[in-house]
Amino acid sequence: MAKITVSGSAGFCFGVNRAVNLVYEALSQGKKVATLGPIIHNTDVVNDMSRRGARIISDISELLPDEYVVIRSHGVGRDVYDAIAKLGNPVIDATCPFVSRIHRIAAEKTAEGYFILIAGDENHPEVQGIVGHCNKNCFVFKDQFVLNDFFQKNHEKKLAIISQTTYNNIIWGECLKVLPKDDPNIVVYDTICTATEQRQTDSAALAKKSDLMIVIGGKHSSNTVKLYDICSQYCRTYHIENADELDTSDLTNADKIGITAGASTPAHIIKEVVSTMEENLNKDNNLEEDFDFAQAIDESFKKLHTGARVKGIVMAVNNSEVIVDLGAKQTGSVPASELTNDPSAKPTELVKEGDELDLIVIKVSDQDGIATLSKKRVDEQAGVDKVVKAKEEGTVLEATVSAVVKGGVNVFYEGVRIFIPASQTGLPREASLDGLKGQTVKFIVIEAPERRKSAVGSIKRVSQKEKDAAKAKFWETAEIGKEYEGEVKSLTSYGAFVDLGGIDGMVHISELSWNRIKHPKDVVSVGDMLKVYIKDLDQENDRISLGYKRSEDNPWEKFKAEFSVGDIVDAKIVSITSFGAFAQIIDGVDGLIHISQLADRRVENVKDVVSVGDEVTVKITNIDMDSKRISLSIREALDEGDYSDED
Ligand code: SF4
Repeated sequence: MAKITVSGSAGFCFGVNRAVNLVYEALSQGKKVATLGPIIHNTDVVNDMSRRGARIISDISELLPDEYVVIRSHGVGRDVYDAIAKLGNPVIDATCPFVSRIHRIAAEKTAEGYFILIAGDENHPEVQGIVGHCNKNCFVFKDQFVLNDFFQKNHEKKLAIISQTTYNNIIWGECLKVLPKDDPNIVVYDTICTATEQRQTDSAALAKKSDLMIVIGGKHSSNTVKLYDICSQYCRTYHIENADELDTSDLTNADKIGITAGASTPAHIIKEVVSTMEENLNKDNNLEEDFDFAQAIDESFKKLHTGARVKGIVMAVNNSEVIVDLGAKQTGSVPASELTNDPSAKPTELVKEGDELDLIVIKVSDQDGIATLSKKRVDEQAGVDKVVKAKEEGTVLEATVSAVVKGGVNVFYEGVRIFIPASQTGLPREASLDGLKGQTVKFIVIEAPERRKSAVGSIKRVSQKEKDAAKAKFWETAEIGKEYEGEVKSLTSYGAFVDLGGIDGMVHISELSWNRIKHPKDVVSVGDMLKVYIKDLDQENDRISLGYKRSEDNPWEKFKAEFSVGDIVDAKIVSITSFGAFAQIIDGVDGLIHISQLADRRVENVKDVVSVGDEVTVKITNIDMDSKRISLSIREALDEGDYSDED
């Protein structure tokens, strides 16, 4: 009984599917389309496109006015884009994202002064396109021997090594062995497409256990030819383009038949080949009657169903989609809009090649070979569960404000949008919310998400909670005399408010300085750090009176230590009244010179004798420390003639 196995990775790859779809989509929209070369190495598909109106041109000079030019998955050089731009024709760029990545590497490394080495076939259009992004600063090598020759002649250059996406990975491995070890001037990028690699690996594995391999694909398709080369190393292998070329007479001589197909081979051609085999083998009675080839194909491919949860490995990321390998026939595509709910996040910032993603299938197109998937729906469900739990448990969550919207701001937590109304931001009523954008905030969920309503959060309640906790902690340990260092949060005419770690205390203006001051701002500013101590506490009313002045700085104590009644001292007139003048002896200590003591004669008006700012010599005639009063006399100082004489 012949056993037939279809390789799981046979047929259309993502890049080819994408290109074919773009052409059919444009044709269905009634656009005039010209493809720059055949879009795919498959005569059936190309003929079908022609029937629908697509023209194949070999040069952009053949373009008609207003005709859409399709750049196929192989891509083209920079010069071609420039020339099309000059002509003004609209472009449908079907360059495979994996090829675009090579273009990017080639251009960037060229700009950085690297010489580009390209592993591939110099006559292949993909390689010619890559060359067109190197500014003529490259060399194409077909295998390890040519690469070795290159290194015999070139030693000094900074080298960037890339490959054609369909390059044989076994030869690539040999090429890597040729490279000088640990040379910091050489950077290597493995740009072989995983679709190709997978197809080659699967085909080799299948060929090893088969008696006969059928490789389906265009005769000019390099990746199909490579599959043929690989398979023929292990067993008898035929390369056919379609079912018509199948030599059915040969099938009877094989017990195990393997089927694989190149990247340009549509699924229906594979099915046709299988059907033809089925008919012929049945005719020859070489099969069990109930063997179903169609089923054999289907069973070879992992099935995807809309709504199913799957895992995918990221193969490529660009700003509009993430391409994932699902281990299925279809290539997975996660559009940027299905990656996250956060419109400000870019796919390249969220995932990277090699990441494993949990996804949900939202659409499967067998014809296109593409499965459209969503990550955000998986995240949302997990996120919704977490947000609901956080609401129930009053957990404080943390997220970044992604947008300022009407009436509040939005944050995304685990993919779930949470609206925070302006009144719950903790900002004053009329304050602008713009400053919150991009900030990481703590919030609690006050309304869980429901079918059509998003969750609602509150930053304010978290701040309040934090304040309450800080207050409780403060009152646990607060006692009169305890010292704190705190930041001045605000000033009023009567004092300064100091943050003691979540709770504010007040330093009265009289406590700020030993000198007389008009306003707290004369000695402190908002933001200053002050060393304060608790003078008084009123827990019931949350009032904390703070002291700031230190007794060791008390000028009266200094005065008492240094001066006595009878001392003759220099002083400065600081204010004048009708009954005398106040003179400052040291900072913070003034004494009164009564009008009768201003001179050794009768004084009618204080201002006739002294002015503010005058330096005078006075005698300390009395000190009253209790009432902080000092009496001074110029007259008595004058009377001490010996003082003046000595001087
Ligand atoms: S083989 Fe790979 S690189 Fe080439 S078109 Fe297909 S997906 Fe893109």
